[in-house]
Amino acid sequence: MTQATQTQTKPGFAPTFTHLVSKEGGVKYPLKALHVCEETFSPLEVAYDYEAIRNQVSRATIEAGPNSIWRYKAFLPVESQNPIDVGTGMTPLVKSHRLARRLGLKNLYIKNDAVNMPTLSFKDRVVSVALTRAKELGFTTVSCASTGNLANSTAAIAAHAGLDCCVFIPSDLEAGKVLGTLVYNPTVMAVKGNYDQVNRLCCEVGNTYGWGFVNINLRPYYSEGSKTLGFEVAEQLGWKLPDHVVAPLASGSLYTKIYKGFQEFIKTGLVEDKAVRFSGAQAEGCSPIASAFKEGRDFVTPVKPNTIAKSIAIGNPADGYYALDIARKTNGNIESVTDPEIVEGIKLLAETEGIFTETAGGTTVAVLKKLVEAGKIDPEETTVIYITGNGLKTQEAVQEYIGEPLTIEPKLDSFERALERSRTLERLDWQQVLV
Ligand SMILES: *Cc1c(COP(=O)(O)O)cnc(C)c1O
Repeated sequence: MTQATQTQTKPGFAPTFTHLVSKEGGVKYPLKALHVCEETFSPLEVAYDYEAIRNQVSRATIEAGPNSIWRYKAFLPVESQNPIDVGTGMTPLVKSHRLARRLGLKNLYIKNDAVNMPTLSFKDRVVSVALTRAKELGFTTVSCASTGNLANSTAAIAAHAGLDCCVFIPSDLEAGKVLGTLVYNPTVMAVKGNYDQVNRLCCEVGNTYGWGFVNINLRPYYSEGSKTLGFEVAEQLGWKLPDHVVAPLASGSLYTKIYKGFQEFIKTGLVEDKAVRFSGAQAEGCSPIASAFKEGRDFVTPVKPNTIAKSIAIGNPADGYYALDIARKTNGNIESVTDPEIVEGIKLLAETEGIFTETAGGTTVAVLKKLVEAGKIDPEETTVIYITGNGLKTQEAVQEYIGEPLTIEPKLDSFERALERSRTLERLDWQQVLV
């Protein structure tokens, strides 16, 4: 820990996080760059003094805080008075009208992290927290094993914070994700392999190079950033919890941390206790958690990913076991959908709500639709779907399915002829539907 961070900590705002603890067996560890328990081999998690948090915050102090994730700083594992704030968080919670009507739901909300800052995915939340903590722990080089969005966030926020950055991605990622990393000028390693192979390589590199890997040795701090997806929804619903949430699952981290966020708001008296149902979404081409759920297993069998939903293509999910547990104990469901259904999900959200999401969001919308059709979502329930990334980054996924513009001469009659032709085509489409 550096001198600077110690002197910045004001009395009365002492850090509320106290130690790391193993998820199994409760073995305690100091607040360092550690992520696995040496005794139980279970993941480590940040523990807090909830009494101290209760004394520091109220609805009013949070509402008066910054318009970013840092309004919830008391619940996050950082001690600096000036965390890295690039405007991450406080994305819109949109009340759905047209998508809701299409699906027959009365109280559907969309948490729109497709417009999160600075890189248009929810990963900016976890990286803002991880890099703030990385600086506190004295790291000067930060890194990650990424399915795409994490590389974008790590590179961008490291650039902002003046940290050296080296990111690892699978070599077959979408062009937008690669370009959206390179532009920040980090070192980019495109690994000829899938995410699980990238991750294994990064574990070896981490052991040798002493870098701060946001989702490996800094994972306990990183993952806490996802709690803000729970906090914001509760605050934006008027300090109430929803009845049901639907979120995508890759490693399962985001899903389990939304749950932790809700529990912490209950524990500190910021919202009333309520049983929230947790449903999860996977792509059929990489659905190890959904398979375990359907087969009634409590262990996740790794798979080799093959889907257009690359951002959630993790075949060996670190938090799969915990995600299953939450789905079961909250009476939720974990469903998977095919690649064509994911494309339909992207188009459906765009056409009904004006939100262009990437493949992970298409997966979530398609799973929502599937759950509604199976009677697994009550139309009256307040349901929140988490849209976690932006469609401009995965254009290849929809390119073939959205048609072409009508190319015309710069003349009125050319326009009129094209308009007439498109209307005729539309009528033909409708006639086919009516037949
Ligand atoms: C990483 C990612 C997820 C899922 O993240 P986990 O926390 O690993 O489950 C969901 N959506 C998008 C767009 C992502 O980039």
